[in-house]
Amino acid sequence: MATKNPSTDAREPTKHESDPHECPFCGEYVASPGKGFMLHVEENPECDADFDAWRDRVADDVPGGWGG
Ligand SMILES: [Zn+2]
Repeated sequence: MATKNPSTDAREPTKHESDPHECPFCGEYVASPGKGFMLHVEENPECDADFDAWRDRVADDVPGGWGG
């Protein structure tokens, strides 16, 4: 049985999670992960293009697509 080191277990390093209030493409602050982000990509053509590519990539994973 593997011995667990309690000191490493106590404080697990946080994985690199993307801030929902941060654009994953340019890192800019967005007001909210949902609507705020949609507004952000509308105002930022570069992020919009990246978002489109990303959406295409995950489309298969989202039943019914993103709609709208
Ligand atoms: Zn952005």
